[in-house]
Amino acid sequence: MTTTRSAGQRAWLARLLGLTLAVLTTAALADNGEHDRDRDRDRERECPNGRDVTLVNGRIHTMDTASLVVSTVTIHDDQFSAVGHDGGFVDNRCKQVIDLDGRTVLPGLVDNHNHIVLLGLRPGWHTPIETAASIADIKLIYQARIRAGVPSGQFVTSIGGFNPVQFAEKRLPTLAELDAIAPANPVYLQVSFTGPAATNTAGRAFFTGRGIAVGADGSIAANAPTVAALNALRSIQTFDDKKRSTADAMAYAAALGVTSNFDMGGFLIPGSPDHEDEFVFDGAASWDPYTAYDPLLDLHRNGLMKVRVRVFFLSMDNAAAIPILTRRVENAFREFGNDWLKIAGLGEFITNWPLFGAVVPPANYPAAVKKAAERGWIYQQHTLSSAEDNVAISEWEHINATVPIAPLHWSVAHALTITPANIARLKALGGGLALHGFRYLAGTPAAAGPPYRTILDSGIKVGAGSDSAQISTLNPWLMLYYMTTGKNSSGVVINAGQTLTRQEAIRLYTAENGWFTKEEDKLGSIEVGKLADLVVLNGDYFSVPDESIKKLHSVMTIVGGKIVYNNGQVRVRDR
Ligand SMILES: [Zn+2]
Repeated sequence: MTTTRSAGQRAWLARLLGLTLAVLTTAALADNGEHDRDRDRDRERECPNGRDVTLVNGRIHTMDTASLVVSTVTIHDDQFSAVGHDGGFVDNRCKQVIDLDGRTVLPGLVDNHNHIVLLGLRPGWHTPIETAASIADIKLIYQARIRAGVPSGQFVTSIGGFNPVQFAEKRLPTLAELDAIAPANPVYLQVSFTGPAATNTAGRAFFTGRGIAVGADGSIAANAPTVAALNALRSIQTFDDKKRSTADAMAYAAALGVTSNFDMGGFLIPGSPDHEDEFVFDGAASWDPYTAYDPLLDLHRNGLMKVRVRVFFLSMDNAAAIPILTRRVENAFREFGNDWLKIAGLGEFITNWPLFGAVVPPANYPAAVKKAAERGWIYQQHTLSSAEDNVAISEWEHINATVPIAPLHWSVAHALTITPANIARLKALGGGLALHGFRYLAGTPAAAGPPYRTILDSGIKVGAGSDSAQISTLNPWLMLYYMTTGKNSSGVVINAGQTLTRQEAIRLYTAENGWFTKEEDKLGSIEVGKLADLVVLNGDYFSVPDESIKKLHSVMTIVGGKIVYNNGQVRVRDR
C-alpha cells in the first residue's frame, strides 16, 4: 500500500472530507429541513398535482432485471414516474430539472445489515475515519470536522468503524500527535466494541479526573478501562446530543449514497430493564433496548430523516421463557411504519448465542424460532462459523415442516465460512444470505470470507451490506472494493477466488436487498413505481481503477424524491 500521498490525492481527500463533513452540523440540517418544508408547502399550493423532478443527461444504471442504462428519469412525488432517454419532457413551473452532465447514477444503495442507530448514539462529535490511510489523513478529517462546527472544548470522537492496521503507521495516534491535530478539543479514538483507545492532553485530564487510567502516551487499555472511558463520555451526553449525533449518522450515510439502512440492533447494556437472565455486555455496541430508538423517533416525527431505516429487534434471552423476544413479538407491530422508518423484523439475534468459539445450540433457540415463525416475523440470524450455520439451518428445517418459512424471508447474516451443503439446505428452505465485507478492515487470508463467488453461483437469494459501525465501515465503496478485489485495507489479497464483478457486487448492494424486508417492489432499482432513491456519483463506478473505487462518494443523493445531500457540483434548475 502507498504510505505517502501525492498533492493531487491530498487535495482530493481534503475536498471530499470538507464536503462530507460540512453536512455534519446540526445547524445545516435544521436549516435544510426548514427550507425544504417551506419549499414543499409553496409547491403544494402552486402545483396541486404534485411536483416533478427530472434528471437529464446522465449515465443512469437502473439495476432493473435487464440492467438497463438510461439518460433521464422523472420523479413524481416520492416515486419514479418515467425512465428513459432525453427529449420530449415538458418543462414547467412544477418541474425541477437537474442536469447530470454525464455523471454516473445508481439506485440509492441499500445496506442490508448495519447498526446505524448505535452509530447515532455515539457520545461526543463522532467523526468517521473509515477512509483514513494514515495519521496524516486523520488530521485532515478531524480538522475539517472541527472547522465545520465542533465547539472548542467539546470532544471529537471516533468510536469503531476503523482499525489501526488500516493506517500506514499500523497503530493508534499518540497523545502528542493528537494534541497537534486538535489543540482546542479533547479527542477520543476507540477501536471496535471495547478498545483499546487513545486520547490527547485535554481528554487525558477528563478521564483521569474520573479515575480512568491513561498512559503518558495517551493510550487507554482495552476492555475495562476503555469501557469506563466510553461510559464517562456517555455520562455527559444529553438527549439533544443524541439527536444531533443521529442526524449526523444519517447525513454521513446520505453523503456516501446509502439511502436505506437495515438496522440490526444492539446488545443489552448492564443495568437496563430485563437484564437478569439475559446476555449483558458493555461497549460501543450496547444500549438500553427500550430507549435507544428515542432520538431516531424524535427526528422522524419532525420530518428530519435523511435516509430510510428499517428496525430489526435484537434480543439475547437466556431464560427458557424468552422474555424480551416475547415482549417484542407480542407487543410490536411487525412490518409497521412508513417508507422512512419501519419495524421490519427480528435479528441479528433472537436468543443468547455463542459469539466466539464452539457452538452448542442455545436451549431456548427452538422456542424462539417457533415464536418468530408462528407470528410471521422477518428474521435475520448472525453466524460466523459453519457450526453456527448448522445450528440455525437445522432448526429452520425443523420449523419449516409445520410453518413454511419461505414467505417470511429469513436470512443468515455474515456466513463467513458457509459450506456448499449448507447453502443448498438454506436455498431449499427459501432462505437467503446477507453478506458483509467487514474482513476488509483487518482480515487475513486465514480470516477472510464470505465466499461471495460460491454463494452467487449457487443461485440462492443473496444481498450485501456492511455490518458497520463497530467492526466495519458504513462506507459501501470500501465494501464494494473488497467484494470485487478480495483485498483488505492494507491492499493484501485475502479472499482469492471469491470475488465478484462490479456489476454483480453493486446488484447485491441495491436491487437484491429489497427482499430482506419484503420491499423488493419499492427499494433497490430505478423503475417506474419504485421509491425515488438514487445517488449521483463523483466517478464512474464501472470504469474507475480498482483503487479509485475507495474514493467514490455521492455528489447528490435523492431519497423519496427529496434532495437529502448535494455538495454543490450538480446544477439544479429550480423553476
Ligand atoms: Zn453480526
